[in-house]
Amino acid sequence: MKKYVYMFSEGNGQMRELLGGKGANLAEMTGLGMPVPQGFTITTEACTRYYEDGKAIYPDIEEQIMEFLDRLEKMTGKALGNPDSPLLVSVRSGARASMPGMMDTILNLGMNDGVCEAVAKLTNNPRFARDSYRRFIQMFSDVVMELPKSSFEQFIDEVKDKKGVKHDNELDADDMAQLVEMFKAHYKKSLGEDFPQDPKKQLMESIRAVFRSWDNPRANTYRRMNDIPHSWGTAVNVQSMVFGNMGETSGTGVAFTRNPATGEKKLYGEFLMNAQGEDVVAGIRTPQPISTLQDIMPEVYEQFVDISSRLEQHYGDMQDMEFTIENGKLYMLQTRNGKRTAQAALKVAVDLVDEGLCTREQAIMKVEPKQLDALLHPTFVRAALDAATPVTTGLPASPGAACGKVYFTAQDAVQAHKVGEKVVLVRQETSPEDIDGMASAEGVMTARGGMTSHAAVVARGMGTCCVAGCNEIRVSEADKTITIGDTVIREGEYISLDGSTGNVYLGQIATQEAELTGDFGRFMGWADEIRTLHVRTNGDTPRDATQARKFGAEGIGLCRTEHMFFETDRIKAVREMIVSETTEQRKKALAKILPMQRGDFEAIYRAMGGLPVTIRLLDPPLHEFLPQEEADIRELAADMGLTYEKLEDVVHDLHEFNPMLGTRGCRLAILYPEIAEMQTEAIISAAINVWKQDGLKITPEIMVPLVSDIKELRFVKKRIKSVADRLIEEAGINMKYMVGTMIETPRAAVTAGEIAEEAEFFSFGTNDLTQMTYGFSRDDIGKILERYFEEKILESDPFARLDQDGVGKLVKMAVEAGRETRPSIKLGICGEHGGDLSSVEFCHNVGLNYVSCSPFRVPIARLAAAQAAVKNPR
Ligand code: PEP
Ligand code: MG
Repeated sequence: MKKYVYMFSEGNGQMRELLGGKGANLAEMTGLGMPVPQGFTITTEACTRYYEDGKAIYPDIEEQIMEFLDRLEKMTGKALGNPDSPLLVSVRSGARASMPGMMDTILNLGMNDGVCEAVAKLTNNPRFARDSYRRFIQMFSDVVMELPKSSFEQFIDEVKDKKGVKHDNELDADDMAQLVEMFKAHYKKSLGEDFPQDPKKQLMESIRAVFRSWDNPRANTYRRMNDIPHSWGTAVNVQSMVFGNMGETSGTGVAFTRNPATGEKKLYGEFLMNAQGEDVVAGIRTPQPISTLQDIMPEVYEQFVDISSRLEQHYGDMQDMEFTIENGKLYMLQTRNGKRTAQAALKVAVDLVDEGLCTREQAIMKVEPKQLDALLHPTFVRAALDAATPVTTGLPASPGAACGKVYFTAQDAVQAHKVGEKVVLVRQETSPEDIDGMASAEGVMTARGGMTSHAAVVARGMGTCCVAGCNEIRVSEADKTITIGDTVIREGEYISLDGSTGNVYLGQIATQEAELTGDFGRFMGWADEIRTLHVRTNGDTPRDATQARKFGAEGIGLCRTEHMFFETDRIKAVREMIVSETTEQRKKALAKILPMQRGDFEAIYRAMGGLPVTIRLLDPPLHEFLPQEEADIRELAADMGLTYEKLEDVVHDLHEFNPMLGTRGCRLAILYPEIAEMQTEAIISAAINVWKQDGLKITPEIMVPLVSDIKELRFVKKRIKSVADRLIEEAGINMKYMVGTMIETPRAAVTAGEIAEEAEFFSFGTNDLTQMTYGFSRDDIGKILERYFEEKILESDPFARLDQDGVGKLVKMAVEAGRETRPSIKLGICGEHGGDLSSVEFCHNVGLNYVSCSPFRVPIARLAAAQAAVKNPR
C-alpha cells in the first residue's frame, strides 16, 4: 500500500511536495542532528485523497497513522492517554508553500481529565497542567468543532474579575481547574456532547480538521493571491509537545536570521518567557527582543545563535525559526525561508551572493517578483513628513507610505475599497479572517502585536504598509473609533501611516515617486543577464514611455491609439470622424486628428530613444466614443453643421448590441480605409521627422487589431503599404517598417500559419483572446467570478492569469504555425497577462520573443522572465 505517513527521521528537505514545507524542514533539521521534538508527517497526498474520498480519511490511512503513532510512542517512551507517562502532541498544517496563519493548529493534544492530573503530579506543576488542558479545549473546540475560541474568553474574564486580578498569569492552579470545568460545561452546552476524552479520537478529529482547513475561505483567498493550486493539499505534522509554559526557565519565541524589514544581517526576533507558541504570534502579550535572552539564559542563547547560523548556511537563505525552551533546554519547532519586505528581499539576495552563500541564479529566485511593486510605489514627500507631527507610534512592521480613510472591519474595508476609496484598516489585532480586508487596504494599523504578529507577517508578504502594536491607542470596533489621549479618530477620517518608522499621522500627507536603491540596480542587472525573454511596455503616451524606460522597458509592445483621444478637445474630433456619413466629412475630421497623432508618435519615439515601438491602428469599441448626452450631441451637431435630429439619428444607427464584437479593430479600417491611411501617415511621417531631426533610425511596427482572416489583414496591409511606401520614397531615406497583427480571436490563432504569410509579427492580445475563447465578457466577469471561485470551477481570474490549458493552447499552436510559415516572425504578448508571474513563465516556455505590460509591471516581468529562465533554460 502507498505510504502516507513518514517519521521526521525518514524524510528530508527535498521532500516539500510530499511532506509540505514544515514537514520537510523538520525532517531536514532532524537529519542535521538539531534538537527537534520528534513526530511524524501525514503527506499532502493523504490530504488530496481526503478530498477525493468525499472529505473522509479512509481506514487504510488511519491505520498507517496509528502505526506511526505507535512508533512515536516507542521512540519517546510515552503514550497518548497513558497517565504514567503521557504523550502530548501538536497537530499542525504545513503546505508546500508557506501560508502563514491561514490554516489551523492544535496544541496539547492528548489532554483529558486523567492526563491533566497525571501531568500535574509528574511536573509538580498543577497550574501548568490545567492551563495546558484549558488551552487544548479552547483550540480543539475552535478548530475541530467550529465553536469560536473567543466564546471562552468571557469565562477567563469572569474568573479574573471575581479574583480582582488583571492578567492571566495572576491566575493560580485552582483558578485554572475552575476554568477547565467552565470550558467543558460550555462545550457540552454548546455542542450537546461531552468534551472527547479519548486521545485517539482527538487526534483523528484534529487531523481531519487540518485537512478541512485547507479549504477554508481565508486559505482560498491566500492561495489565489499567491498562485498556489488547490490540488497541492496540505500535510499534517504530529509532533511531541515541548512546553514553554512550564515556569520561569521555559519560554518560546520566533526569530529571523536577518532583519525581515530591512535585510540587515543580525539575528532578529522576539520571545516570551513562560508562554506557549500561540502567545507570541497572537500578539496578546508584548514579547521581548531576542537579544535579551542572552542575559536570561546565556547558554541557551549561544546554542540558538549557533543553530541559526548553521541553518542559514545550510539553506543558503534567511531563516524564520520557531523555538521553545522547556526547563532550560532548547528545542527547534520549525524553520523556513523567512517572509520579508521587498527592500529586505533585495538586500538579502545581494548580500548572500556577496557572502558567497548563493549564486546569482539562486539569488534571483529568492525575491518574489510581485514584491517589487512595493519599491516602485510612492513614499511620503520628505518635507511634508517633516512638517507633520505623529499622533502615535507603533512598530514599523512593513514599510511603505499609506494614506487612507479609517475602517474597522475587514468587511467595511473591502466595501469602501470597492467604491474606490483608499482605506486604512485599523484593528485591535488582525486575524487570518482579515485577509480580504488587508488586501483591500493601503495600510494596516493594529493596537497590539509585535513584528512577528499576524498583521506584520501577512502585510509584509503582501507588500502592504503596516504599523503594528500601537500601544497608546484604544480601538473600539463597536463605536468605530480610535482614541489616542484626547484625540478621537472616527470611521471615514483620513490617517497616514509610515511603515518604515512606525509613525502614525492625522490627515493626508503628500507622497512622491519611489527611488530605487543600489541593491535594486545590481539585482535587476543580474535578472537582465539571465533572462532570454524581452520585456516591453504597453504605453499610450510619452509619459508612459518615459516611466517604463526608467523601469527598464526595451520597447513599446502596444500603443493603443484610441487611448490618445480621451481628452475633451481630442474626443470631439474622433466623434466627428465616427459619425461622419460621407468620406468627405470623415476626411475633414481625420485632417484634424492627423497632426495630434503625429505629434504624439514623435514624442513617443523620442522617449524610447530608438527602441522598437509597436503602434496599433484604431481599435475602439464604438460605444466608448459615441456621444451619449444630449448636450454633447448638440455641440457636435453644431460643429459639423448638422441638425440635432440628424445627428441623433446617426448615433442611433451606430448603436450596437454587442460592441465588443462589433465595429472594432480591422473592421473599422475595412469599412473606412481612410482611417487606417491617416494613421499610417501619422506613424510613418512622425518616424521620418524623428529620423531626420534626431538621427533616431526607427523601424515603426504597425499593428492591425482584431484580425480573424488573412484576407482582412491583406486588405488593410495594402492600404498601409501604399501610404507608407509613398511617404518613405518622398522622404528619400532608407527607412524600414513592419506590418503585423494582433492574434486575439480564436480564428486568428487557428489560422495563424496562413496569417503569417502577411504578418511580420504577432502580438497575442490575450484579453480579447480570453474573452472570445471562454465567451466571458471582459467587462462583466466580476459577478460570475466569485461563485466560480467558491465552486472551484476557476481558481484564478483568467483575465489576470493566462488560462494555459485553453487560451494557452491556442497561443502555443499559433506560435508553432507562425514560425513554421515565417521563421523570422517576431512574437510577443500584450494582453494584461504580460505582467503576471505564471503567465510570463508560460510565455518564456512557449518561446515568445517578448512580453509587454504596463509600465509599473515592467520590473516584475523582468524578474519573472529571469526566474523562468533559471527554471527552464532555453
Ligand atoms: C488584448 O485584447 O489583449 C489587447 C491587448 O487589446 P485590448 O485590451 O486593447 O482589447
Ligand atoms: Mg484586444
